Amino acid sequence: MFDVIIAGCGPTGAMLAAELRLHDVRVLVLEQETEPTSFVRIVGLHIRSLELMAMRGLLDRILPHGRQRPAAGFFAAIPKPAPKGLDSAYAYLLGIPQPVIEQLLEAHAIELGAQVRRGRAVTGLEQDDDGVTVELAGGQRLRSRYLVGCDGARSTVRKLLGVGFPGEPARTETLMGEMAVGVPPEEIAAKVAEVRQQRFWLRPSGAGNYSVVVPAAGVSDRSAPPTLEDFKSQLRTVAGTDFGVHSPRWLSRFGDATRLAERYRVGRVLLAGDAAHIHPPTGGQGLNLGVQDAFNLGWKLAAQVRGWAPETLLDTYQAERHPVAADVLDNTRAQMELSSAEPGPQAVRRLLTELMDFDEVNRYLIEKITAIDVRYDLGEGPDLLGRRLPDVDVQQGRLYGLLHRGRGLLLDRTGRLTVGGWSDRVDHLADPTAALDVPCVLLRPDGHVAWIGDDQQDLDGHLARWFGNPTG
Ligand SMILES: Cc1cc2nc3c(=O)[nH]c(=O)nc-3n(C[C@H](O)[C@H](O)[C@H](O)COP(=O)(O)OP(=O)(O)OC[C@H]3O[C@@H](n4cnc5c(N)ncnc54)[C@H](O)[C@@H]3O)c2cc1C
Repeated sequence: MFDVIIAGCGPTGAMLAAELRLHDVRVLVLEQETEPTSFVRIVGLHIRSLELMAMRGLLDRILPHGRQRPAAGFFAAIPKPAPKGLDSAYAYLLGIPQPVIEQLLEAHAIELGAQVRRGRAVTGLEQDDDGVTVELAGGQRLRSRYLVGCDGARSTVRKLLGVGFPGEPARTETLMGEMAVGVPPEEIAAKVAEVRQQRFWLRPSGAGNYSVVVPAAGVSDRSAPPTLEDFKSQLRTVAGTDFGVHSPRWLSRFGDATRLAERYRVGRVLLAGDAAHIHPPTGGQGLNLGVQDAFNLGWKLAAQVRGWAPETLLDTYQAERHPVAADVLDNTRAQMELSSAEPGPQAVRRLLTELMDFDEVNRYLIEKITAIDVRYDLGEGPDLLGRRLPDVDVQQGRLYGLLHRGRGLLLDRTGRLTVGGWSDRVDHLADPTAALDVPCVLLRPDGHVAWIGDDQQDLDGHLARWFGNPTG
């Protein structure tokens, strides 16, 4: 009997497993693939994800594997400099191959004590009052108290739950792969420069191979991977030559469907990451969104398992994350429109390009894509309530260094307050020098501000709201 079974060891599943292990939750991750993925998409970790990594002490491990770039030009690829005054110690983009980030997160989860079993596909589930029975391909059955579907866009868990996935189907599809070429590099560079078409490029990817991206002939049912012949034929259509491509390392395809799960929770089964939302890769937000779902869900599900969760805590996962995903879907829809070659969208693009010369407009859009604008609706209160707190200076150094264990934190400039009977779940830092504009903040384990003030009775009410009954 496990506390939580996670279906899928992509970035979302691995991050969630690690977050649960911080609270000693017995976690099993089931991954259908026998080997880690070899599809090398270079993804960008945006500011909020970099902050999460810093909060768990992972950033120093990740940074050497990626390339830092300015936090600029994400919105519909409109080229503008990074806006001034981005309020983060990590105001850059980290370009990193997705397999690397997946391996680092999986290793982190395993180090913390998560079990990962590969070659195990979830095929069935049944839930009752006490837990979930999870069926695997081959007929094996496992039991856990909760199940989380982090099993990607075609989520089996979502389908088994019967949760609707409304939205727009794919209008276009793109082939993407890595392979050898049969012509000299200069010839390739000249042809790519001449054709200059969206979703078409060939770029050296090391060891004599090229990363090849080309529009597909149409939208397939995507049940089978593309073939080398599909690539050759499309390259000939788009560029007039197939560049002599051969010896593929991997071949893949992606579409531009936009969909959002109707519910993130059905009883003891939850959804996170691409299992809950899909959208075109414009702006590079999907992986970031999934990792941030996991960060929101991890401590809440752990609290539920450990028995201290207030009654409605687990439901705040959907209440907080569903609107965030809806907003990401909307901004990708807008970006896709702005990428159209039609005269109307092109005119809107020109106008927006002008507007982005106003730093506030530029910053608004970059804060949106990088998710540092997220504010959960925690009720009436100052603007900071429900937002993430940046990595401010504190006496011991920086705030995020104090959040590695995934506990709550009372950051207290007055030195008059106490976390009393919640000290087993919430740390207390009395620090008159903390770089805050307010007397005290209560931070949730995900770094969002749950309370602002200086009154002990008011604080106790909010500690109970987020961290349950006091002990002792
Ligand atoms: C071309 C391209 C570029 C992109 N660029 C970016 C970017 O720059 N930034 C960004 O944030 N995002 C980007 N994305 C999106 C990103 O790749 C995804 O959003 C991300 O992989 C989602 O992570 P996940 O863990 O939720 O799902 P996945 O990565 O899909 O992982 C799901 C896992 O579940 C496993 N699985 C599936 N079914 C089962 C089952 N029944 N039982 C057990 N295991 C199962 C799968 O094998 C897989 O390992 C890009 C996507 C594409 C296509």
